[in-house]
Amino acid sequence: DTNTDTDTQETLTMVTNAEFPPYEYKEGDKVVGIDADVAQAIADKLGMKLEIVDTKFDAIIPGVQSGKYDMGMAGMTVTPEREQSVAFSDSYATGIQSIIVKQGSDIKSVDDLSEKTKIGVQLGTTGDIYAKDDFGDEAVQEFDKGADAVQALLAGKIDCVIIDNEPAKSFVASNEGLEILNTSYAEEEYAICFKKDNTELQTKVNGALKELIADGTLQEIVNKYIKA
Ligand code: GLN
Repeated sequence: DTNTDTDTQETLTMVTNAEFPPYEYKEGDKVVGIDADVAQAIADKLGMKLEIVDTKFDAIIPGVQSGKYDMGMAGMTVTPEREQSVAFSDSYATGIQSIIVKQGSDIKSVDDLSEKTKIGVQLGTTGDIYAKDDFGDEAVQEFDKGADAVQALLAGKIDCVIIDNEPAKSFVASNEGLEILNTSYAEEEYAICFKKDNTELQTKVNGALKELIADGTLQEIVNKYIKA
């Protein structure tokens, strides 16, 4: 039974990094986006009151691990390394690592990247990890926000930005002179993370996700933020 009396409802704390449009970003002081809406829909299904906390991307997993937050949701890719630290829900979205360059750049595809390319990434993301693995630490410049990496690209300080496809589209749409290469760098699955032993919440959230997929709510939320 869903408890609709908000005063007595238990709180579900979701931690995110609101620098990743259209999954999470700020509208005034409010965190909005696909993850915010999906988290709200999950909380509604569980009869809980949602609280969203905004922090740095690399503080999400430690905060969930320590039990400070109930779950982390940040367009977060499931990786074997992260699975050592946290438990993941079923996947609710897919992402593709994309490459943003200035229009007319010599970089035309992933094959043009090398140890000499100045690659901008968001700190602690899979783009960061893969780029360092493939091209070495020297090639990679880490930024707290994807938007800052994009500004560095516009200023000519770096040659490209490796970031997930939907934020890439959003950054290219809001800045002139950039393009996304027609080449994909890696494909991944997004999921919600929990403290490892919190199988109770993991199971409940997976149940809620199944319902949200079956009743079309998830697709509705995606359509609200991503225009085909
Ligand atoms: N999907 C990427 C990752 O999990 C980026 C997520 C993000 O920047 N919010 O590392």
